[in-house]
Amino acid sequence: MSNASIPSGGPVDPAVIDDLVAASRILAHHGVLDAWGHVSIRHPKNPERYLLSRARAPALVEAGDIMEFDLNSDPVDQQGRRMFLERYIHGEAFRARPDVNAVVHSHSPTVIPFTVTDEPLKAISHIASFLAGGCPCFEIRDVGLTQGLLVTNNKQGAALAKVLGDKPVALMRGHGNLVVASDIQRVVHRALYTEVNAQQLATALSFRRPIKYVTEDEAQDPKRLGDSWDVWKAEAMGK
Ligand SMILES: [Zn+2]
Repeated sequence: MSNASIPSGGPVDPAVIDDLVAASRILAHHGVLDAWGHVSIRHPKNPERYLLSRARAPALVEAGDIMEFDLNSDPVDQQGRRMFLERYIHGEAFRARPDVNAVVHSHSPTVIPFTVTDEPLKAISHIASFLAGGCPCFEIRDVGLTQGLLVTNNKQGAALAKVLGDKPVALMRGHGNLVVASDIQRVVHRALYTEVNAQQLATALSFRRPIKYVTEDEAQDPKRLGDSWDVWKAEAMGK
């Protein structure tokens, strides 16, 4: 269905699309995204639009798969393409957080245990210090189920964004997480190190000794994200 009633935000620099494709592949390469997670960015020229792949495994996403949506997660020009059921996570995160320009939804494997217990997922390493304030956890039953634990409408997406509040990461009970940031490199860093920190914290917990978490006054936003981005992009894009 072509939806002529939703105007496009306009053409997007191919380099921006290239980075969105790379983000998807980097997170798949590192096992953060399985065959179903997704990455999106806000449209650079229109804050009421966002860009997300058609429904496709993240490891296979290409520039031609990128579609444009409004904040209700209706497509600007669907062209018969299959869309992610859970795209509402993105639309409502962009609506709720004007400071956010990039969103990841993943089923990050080591995060799941922290979504089903009251064990807090907090930073234990400097590089994951964006987690110093902890992660709120979304309980989808609070807003009502539609398809298992999946977020398949705006009401559920808005409830998730409300639980996220002003934080960088929200957990989703028995499902995964929502990660947001001001830009694509930062959201990839956060999604990846949320998984790494969860692995390291699970190891620390296995020692059954008191844990010293990174405190909020120790937290520091990483400065040179471009260094890791260049390596990850080269690896994931096979260049
Ligand atoms: Zn999901």
